[in-house]
Amino acid sequence: MGDIHEGGCACGAVRFQVRGPLGEAGACHCSQCRRQTGLYYATTNVADDNLDWHGLENATRYRSSPEAERGFCRICGSALFWKGIGSSHTSIMAGAFDQPSDLKISYHIFCADKADFYDINDGLPRFSQSNS
Ligand SMILES: [Zn+2]
Ligand SMILES: [Zn+2]
Repeated sequence: MGDIHEGGCACGAVRFQVRGPLGEAGACHCSQCRRQTGLYYATTNVADDNLDWHGLENATRYRSSPEAERGFCRICGSALFWKGIGSSHTSIMAGAFDQPSDLKISYHIFCADKADFYDINDGLPRFSQSNS
């Protein structure tokens, strides 16, 4: 079977399956992630070739910037993914994966925009903007 990781939204209307080992997870502290989730979010980048959605018709895509869109369940509101326009990869929310996820946050991005009500002191690399 190899590596299969599954996940979905809180109500179960949108589910996904990822084939193959997962890459590293990064936490994003930008204002959009803060407003969408109430805190910050973590994602792992997945090749679309290794990704299958079920019930994706229950997700809404929101064009959050000229470069990207964000997907969430339109029934329960769970944030599910971030995707660059035209990209062949999708950044899946770490929190959407069923447990155990096998994921581990390994860096922080957009720390310059971090909210004032929490601290980052896990010793991991921090980038003020993107790390790319
Ligand atoms: Zn849902
Ligand atoms: Zn962000």
